[in-house]
Amino acid sequence: MMIDTLLIANRGEIACRIIRTARRLGIRTVAVYSDADAGALHVALADEAVRIGAAPARDSYLRMDAVLDAAARTGAQAIHPGYGFLSENAGFAEACAASGLIFVGPPASAIRAMGGKSEAKALMETAGVPLVPGYHGEEQNSGVLASEAARIGYPVLIKASAGGGGKGMKVATSAEEFHEQLASAKREAQAAFGDDRVLIEKYLARPRHVEIQVFADGHGNCVYLFERDCSIQRRHQKVVEEAPAPNLPKGLREEMGAAAVAAAKAIGYVGAGTVEFLLDPVETGGDGRFYFMEMNTRLQVEHPVTEYITGQDLVEWQLRVAAGGVLPLTQDQLAVHGHAIEVRLYAEDPDKGFLPQTGTLSHLRFPEAGPHVRVDTGVRQGDAISIHYDPMIAKLIVWDVDRPAAVRRLRQALAATEVGGLAANVPFLAAIAAHPAFLEADLDTRFIERHQADLLPPPAVPSGDTLALAALGVLLERQAETMAGAARTNDPWSPWASGASWRLNDAVPEILTFRDGREGGEPQEVRAAHRRDGDFDVTLPDGSEVRAQARFDAEGRLVAEIGGRRLAVGWSRRGMELDLFRPGHHDRLILIDPLDVGEVDAAGAGHLVAPMPGKIIAVLVAAGNRVEKGQGLIVLEAMKMEHTIKAQGPGTVQTVRYAVGDQVPDGAELIIVAGDEA
Ligand code: ADP
Repeated sequence: MMIDTLLIANRGEIACRIIRTARRLGIRTVAVYSDADAGALHVALADEAVRIGAAPARDSYLRMDAVLDAAARTGAQAIHPGYGFLSENAGFAEACAASGLIFVGPPASAIRAMGGKSEAKALMETAGVPLVPGYHGEEQNSGVLASEAARIGYPVLIKASAGGGGKGMKVATSAEEFHEQLASAKREAQAAFGDDRVLIEKYLARPRHVEIQVFADGHGNCVYLFERDCSIQRRHQKVVEEAPAPNLPKGLREEMGAAAVAAAKAIGYVGAGTVEFLLDPVETGGDGRFYFMEMNTRLQVEHPVTEYITGQDLVEWQLRVAAGGVLPLTQDQLAVHGHAIEVRLYAEDPDKGFLPQTGTLSHLRFPEAGPHVRVDTGVRQGDAISIHYDPMIAKLIVWDVDRPAAVRRLRQALAATEVGGLAANVPFLAAIAAHPAFLEADLDTRFIERHQADLLPPPAVPSGDTLALAALGVLLERQAETMAGAARTNDPWSPWASGASWRLNDAVPEILTFRDGREGGEPQEVRAAHRRDGDFDVTLPDGSEVRAQARFDAEGRLVAEIGGRRLAVGWSRRGMELDLFRPGHHDRLILIDPLDVGEVDAAGAGHLVAPMPGKIIAVLVAAGNRVEKGQGLIVLEAMKMEHTIKAQGPGTVQTVRYAVGDQVPDGAELIIVAGDEA
């Protein structure tokens, strides 16, 4: 069957990426969108777009009827589900078939077979694929689960059977901790998947996550497109992915490839799939073996690294196979070329426990794409990251002839990436890329945990250069505003229209006070005066004085010469918040308004506020309770994850403002704790 119109039942970077390949193949594309995405990039890129509902995913991207209706209205013959949303929904695959549409994915039976982690493990056990020691039975009684955990031996990992994206996954290090962790895993699983069944596995100490890309067609052919190492994770979620896996012996690769192909064949697989394994390397105290974890029956987020090293377009393969074609290549024709690395750029704040951020991307610059750099994104400058969807901004993917060269490319690519308006994990990714252990490929799933101190350095005091640049930028902007204001008034010569002191007397400096945009920064005072000759005099907090010149260039970058050195920074300002970008360096500063009476205490002085909008799912204390520093007080569910609000210090709970089930806005005061010192 020919596909000449393809509907993409997804949004963001993956929708854009699929549209690109479809277009290259001469296929007409149909986007679907929610109210929140009417102006989104994927809508702009597609040939046609259909609104399918309100912003929450369950009212739009998860609505099968709306998606099928959009396909019928636009004459699409096929639906590509991307990843997430309806991609692993067997019912949707069936509904497509019932409507005479091609579902670009595996048969519903294969999705079902791998749908639950427990069922998948049982199936793989019979197919002879090695499993992590554990319990994946039907029995869900907490007593039985606890005794299974004891039999397996602590530490154990409790996983949501319906799980994905690290949700509903909790480590229990001892029997004492087991029940609390079980309850938390079940709550999270119920909230995220509407299914609270769990399985238990031995928690391996320092495994690597190595997964195999498989591909099968409807004619009995199945190949593997080698492996990806996705060991660098945070909270069991991938952060960095690469291909091939460093230091993977050739024999082991072939063995894992064969096991993955066997797994796919065991369930009559067709299309793109990924078989995830944990590798327990001898170097880190393991047995050198690999164990099946789960199979993802869709295109994976990190597929671009495989595309880079194989020179293949996996979406093209998917469309060919979906249309009934045979696999473009046989196993013998596939080979690994060079090395590719992907990092996931998220709107999240590493300084605040990686809290997802929402807001407008007021400033966005990516490295230039080319043979060595690929940027997959679904957003542009000015777009919003909303509470409704995944806070991913982009994937940066680099390629070079070998791993050290690829790591250098990655460092360069990150240095050229500028995200302003909301906090992003760029500096954190850059710190990983710069880490000697990363260069040495000393990888396992505890990498981030182990190197935490290096990867999350404490906030540094803004440098003199940064403060000088910030002051210069603010003065230049004020000057431009004043001139624009003067041009607007009836009497441009009125002294009130020309508000800038520099015009009257170049000796009067303006005092600008900044503090680091990250918490805990001390106010820093800079004096700056615009001289009659066009230069600036700048006095830094340490008392040193510099002469400077500054202007904004055509791209809006602030170009300055300070004390004889030329500096250029990306500049983005929203009200009192400033973002300054230099290669590999991002400063966030807050300009303190001198008229503001007192600053709000960042720590909230015992008034604990919601770090983002969400729903209260547990209240762990009541008024009058004594609490210790770090004790969990209230649990907020936001963006499908649980966030426990903890006591900042020892004290007594005074007021709990919300109850379980309450929806709370960003910044809502949740609970008041009277500190012991108070
Ligand atoms: P999800 O489907 O939620 O992403 P996975 O089962 O794929 O969950 O596991 C995610 C990650 O959790 C793995 O990549 C690995 O780092 C870690 N993990 C899973 N199982 C184990 C285990 N038994 N021991 C140690 N780490 C594990």
